[in-house]
Amino acid sequence: MASRYDDQNVFAKILRGEIPCNKVYEDDFALAFHDISPQTKVHVLVIPKGSYVSSDDFFADASEAEIAGFMRAVGAVARQVGIDADGYRLLSNHGDHARQEVPHFHIHLFGGQELGRMIKPA
Ligand code: AMP
Repeated sequence: MASRYDDQNVFAKILRGEIPCNKVYEDDFALAFHDISPQTKVHVLVIPKGSYVSSDDFFADASEAEIAGFMRAVGAVARQVGIDADGYRLLSNHGDHARQEVPHFHIHLFGGQELGRMIKPA
């Protein structure tokens, strides 16, 4: 279960324009920007405009329009940064086991290189 939304989280501040980001895309439902500490050649974060802690409350509480608009934006971002032809990986962390750091729902978009196996065996 997602915790209560903290409007002082770093992505909320980016959405309000209080701190800068390296923006790649914006529409009514989503904002996308380069990760400040990229793990792959292309590493973009896509965040919804609404106040959701993680995938958990976003999937449960967001409207159909927000969900559809956000997911379409993820695809548009991948095409915009030019990783759609060679392939990419989406990842979203929810909660402690996934080591989510920023409590505003976001999808990591990784690409621009061969990405290896999906996850290390336990
Ligand atoms: P997660 O562990 O899924 O919550 O990932 C949070 C991501 O946000 C990490 O990959 C960070 O490098 C990234 N990040 C944190 N602060 C910023 C920032 N100000 N601008 C861009 N990316 C950030």
